[in-house]
Parts: sequence; C-alpha cells; structure tokens
Amino acid sequence: MSEEINTFGELNLNSWIVKQCSLIGVKKPTPIQKNCIPRILAGDDCIGCAKTGSGKTLAFVLPIVQKLCEDPYGIFALVLTPTRELASQIGEQFTAIGKPINLKTCVVLGGMDMMTQAQELSKRPHIVVATPGRLADHLESCDTFSLNKLKFVVLDEADRLLGGDFDEQIKTIFSALPKQRQSLLFSATMTDALEQVKQVARNNVFQFEDDDDS
Ligand code: ADP
Ligand code: MG
Repeated sequence: MSEEINTFGELNLNSWIVKQCSLIGVKKPTPIQKNCIPRILAGDDCIGCAKTGSGKTLAFVLPIVQKLCEDPYGIFALVLTPTRELASQIGEQFTAIGKPINLKTCVVLGGMDMMTQAQELSKRPHIVVATPGRLADHLESCDTFSLNKLKFVVLDEADRLLGGDFDEQIKTIFSALPKQRQSLLFSATMTDALEQVKQVARNNVFQFEDDDDS
C-alpha cells in the first residue's frame, strides 16, 4: 500500500513535526510508521507488530503529538510500558518531538517518591508515560488525579503487558479511562493475548516479519 512513501510529510504530518524528526536524525519512515501513522491520524485504533528497533515508538509519538495540537485539554495520552528504562526512553522521544510546543511529559516509574510524582501529575502534563504498577498506585491513592479527559492509550510492548503479571494493574488503569478514546498496541511479537484483542483494531493490524525493510 505505502511502498512509495519516503518522507514523513507524505504521511500528513505537520511540517514542524517533520522538522523535529530530522533534528533527531530521522528522515525516512519505517514500514510500521508508514502503516500506523495515517491510521492513527484518521482516528482509528491500531495494533503494530514489528521487531525490536523498527521504530514503533515514533509510530505513536508523532501522530499523538500532532493530534494534541488540535485539542490540548487535560492529560491527552497515557503510554504504558513494562520497564522503567523503556518508559524513560519513550518520555525522551515525546520531549524531543514536542519541544516547539512545550509539550509536558510526565514519566511515572516505580522506585521514585510517590509525593513528588503526585505533584508532577497535578501540573497537568499532556502525556503520561508509566509502568503499570506505579500508575495503578496513583489512581488508587489520589482522588484528584484523573485520566477522564484522555484521548489515547498506548500499550507499548503489549505482549509483555497483557496476559501475565500486569493483568490486575492494567484492569485497574483501564477502568479509569474514558470509553471514548483511541487504543494503540505495539509489540515485537503477536501473542495469544494480543490475538484476543485484535478485533478492537479491525483492519488496522500491521504485522511485519523479520527483515521486512520495504
Ligand atoms: P522499537 O520500539 O520498534 O523497538 P524504537 O522506537 O525504540 O524501536 O526505535 C529504535 C531506534 O530507531 C531509535 O533510536 C529511534 O530513534 C530510531 N528510529 C525510529 N524511527 C526511525 C526512522 N524512521 N529512521 C531512522 N531511525 C529511526
Ligand atoms: Mg519499543
């Protein structure tokens, strides 16, 4: 479908976002980016499966930042990921791309002080990137922290988040989300748990096998 696309501009991303990409050395979209970005911009749920290193982070960061410019009220997007290291890296990508609009990203990790984090969350960040356990703790302990205006939820490394140890925490978090939202799932592998939620994304399930560089 999208083999001829060679630039981010052709994916209907704003020129300032394309410029931010080139500032971080990213010029030509990868296959997962070519397929997911237009669907996310169009308002669809989406599941993207591609090997580690294929650029799944920007596949959701870029369209979310673009959409945020249209309607920046309350916490706009929540990204869940299994490890602190991944959460920090995702937070950095949002910060790098969103610099010209002063995008505020809050990274919520286990091991950090709860009170300090609660203060950061109360400053109304646009994006919250979190590990599930710590975010569930905040939702359960803090009445003022709310995700009810959220427009996007992203499960990054969804294969590791679904169908295992995180299930209880994910359930707590999803019960705090508005029904009207876009759900985006990214994973290196298609697991049984992911197969089960495939229908939410209808036709927007993009799977790339190893070494697919088209
Ligand atoms: P994944 O989540 O699929 O494992 P990442 O999103 O972490 O992969 O991206 C891996 C690396 O590739 C990062 O350093 C990122 O900045 C870089 N990258 C992402 N998209 C592109 C692109 N279109 N061109 C070049 N490098 C890219
Ligand atoms: Mg990743």
